[in-house]
Amino acid sequence: MKKYNFNAGPSKLPSDVMKAVSAACIDFENSGLSLMEMSHRAKNFQPVVDEAVSLFRELLSIPDGYSVLFLGGGASLEFCMVPYNFLERKAAYLNTGVWAKKAMAEAKLFGETVEVASSADTTYNYIPRGYTIPTDADYFHVTTNNTIYGTELHRDLDSPVPMVADMSSDIFSRPIDVSKYICIYGGAQKNLAMAGVTFVIVKNDALGRVTRPIPTMLDYRTHVKGGSMFNTPPTVPIYCALQTLRWLKREGGVMEMQRRAEEKAKLLYGEIERNKLFRPTVTNPDDRSYMNICFVMNDEYKELEADFLSFATERGMVGVKGHRSVGGFRASCYNAVTIDDVKALVACMQEYERQH
Ligand SMILES: *Cc1c(COP(=O)(O)O)cnc(C)c1O
Repeated sequence: MKKYNFNAGPSKLPSDVMKAVSAACIDFENSGLSLMEMSHRAKNFQPVVDEAVSLFRELLSIPDGYSVLFLGGGASLEFCMVPYNFLERKAAYLNTGVWAKKAMAEAKLFGETVEVASSADTTYNYIPRGYTIPTDADYFHVTTNNTIYGTELHRDLDSPVPMVADMSSDIFSRPIDVSKYICIYGGAQKNLAMAGVTFVIVKNDALGRVTRPIPTMLDYRTHVKGGSMFNTPPTVPIYCALQTLRWLKREGGVMEMQRRAEEKAKLLYGEIERNKLFRPTVTNPDDRSYMNICFVMNDEYKELEADFLSFATERGMVGVKGHRSVGGFRASCYNAVTIDDVKALVACMQEYERQH
């Protein structure tokens, strides 16, 4: 049966990407070796990193003076590396969910950390507005897309201090003004590659300003200097990211991804609002994520939740169960998810409605 993959992460990748990675895992560019058994310092691997970095720069219009790094440890290690490298006096955080809260908890280990606003009061189903960012903060940290709750910042915010962003689940889904940030990071397994690699975009002259000593591997300067090769980087996931970046460029880049994301989101939110069985969990349309679309069954149909889930599963839908902290359903519509995938889910919701 055809599967429609709405997993939140690791998540759907374009089939071209998976074919290219599979082929390289058997025989990398006719070298007679698998990519899995090659040195990261091999002559034919360096071009993989170089091209991935240059496509990052091109697709996101990254200005000069920034480095692109491919590291291990996940976005979760960046929660600690960010304050280690940037927090001297004070840091400001916008608390829009569990990931933001985890990032903030790490910052507290290093210095004064201000929560400028929080949407925890209603299970993070909105993006706070109208807060004040302290002007003496070293940085203001945001989570641009809240994977679990389905809220998203669709534009770069204005901030009196440089921003740091966790873009794990919406990188490459819209253009970004990189110059507003000193650091953008994320796990690649949502919208870029298989699990195992973390991307970091860091402003070079923002580094080296804290007075504390930083362990070598946690110091961004180590990886800037080493070109992501200070130690062994995750070679196969980096190759996977390269394939996705090539695919992104062929498909029209981030403007086209933004157009598709809006089209998919409009279709699915439209159906959630029209269908008598369902309602969205995020009430303000401006705050609704295009990447992770969360919905629940209306109160009078609540007892049908498990039944709808098995109905959808029988029709090939994968990963539509909501995160345990929110319940209901979540359809993750990352770049590789097509409008036809979303149409199949909509048809499934309509068929279920007719039966009830
Ligand atoms: C998944 C996710 C994380 C955690 O990423 P890891 O790579 O597993 O550490 C952090 N932030 C956001 C927004 C996420 O979606």
